[in-house]
Amino acid sequence: MVPLRFVTGDGPILQHRIEIGFVMKEKLLLGVDVGSTKIAVVLWSRVGVRLGSARWETLPALEANLERIRSEARRLLEAQAGPLGAIGISGGGPVDPRRGVILTIPNLRGWENVEIARRLSEELGAPARLENDANACALAEWRYGAGRGVDDLAFLTFSTGIGAGLILDGRLYRGHRFLAGEVGHQTIVPGGEPCGCGRRGCLEAYASGAGIARRLAALRAADPSLPATARELTERARAGDTFSAAFLKETARYLARGLSSLIFLINPARIILGTIAVGAGDLVLEPLREELRDLVWPSLLEGLEVVPAALGPELGDQAARAVAEETLCPGS
Ligand SMILES: [Zn+2]
Repeated sequence: MVPLRFVTGDGPILQHRIEIGFVMKEKLLLGVDVGSTKIAVVLWSRVGVRLGSARWETLPALEANLERIRSEARRLLEAQAGPLGAIGISGGGPVDPRRGVILTIPNLRGWENVEIARRLSEELGAPARLENDANACALAEWRYGAGRGVDDLAFLTFSTGIGAGLILDGRLYRGHRFLAGEVGHQTIVPGGEPCGCGRRGCLEAYASGAGIARRLAALRAADPSLPATARELTERARAGDTFSAAFLKETARYLARGLSSLIFLINPARIILGTIAVGAGDLVLEPLREELRDLVWPSLLEGLEVVPAALGPELGDQAARAVAEETLCPGS
């Protein structure tokens, strides 16, 4: 409340108070996580309170999914007072973030060159931004998870493949053709196992979820009592099974070869590892750190923390939220 004085040469002629009733409506954030198997739409407050969500198995037709995203978003917004401030989209495949275009989604037909950011922005009336899921997860771990407090980090995702999102000097780094972070396709065994990319000996042919399953399947052909999945492997290693512990150690060795070149290249303060490290913890992290001591200069390891991701099953939702927040507030 500010008292205003209007003054003439004779002194104050009018004095009154103006009370301005400002009600700042909080801008809301919409996160859209688009994957080949499921799609999630989550509405967030600016401080990260989850206000509502919808998720469904990805429908076969592209337009049906876009319509569902739109209608779910409108339904979630109807229940709230605040306006939509930004839309963040995390895409499970290669994207062109500058144009907001999903280039493809692996295993989904009809998702080629989808202008998803423009369409959702026009339909929902807020700026929209798109990142690939590895980059979106890196933003989320950096803003809300295991990457808080540092300006240089790599986040690695382990599923059928291995991909990384890089935060360098406090900004997401995408690269010239938005392909930065394809660390899963470094050759770590020349002429080695075939990789999904068509080449041989790539890191992800050995250390991704699919790579681990393939290596196990080859051994199980001779001994069917061996574990079949990374999860089973971890459970048995915890229970003292020496084969499982040795197998995880070998996986850590492959991983260390891939990480060592990343460390030499970007000198990160933190490397955050998804699924494999979250599930197996020190069964993988300890041999990995030990192997890195052999492969990397001590000066580069000084202060470098190699840690599991912190956001757990929330990571996909938080990734899309982080992209939305990045739209309103880049790099903060
Ligand atoms: Zn490859």
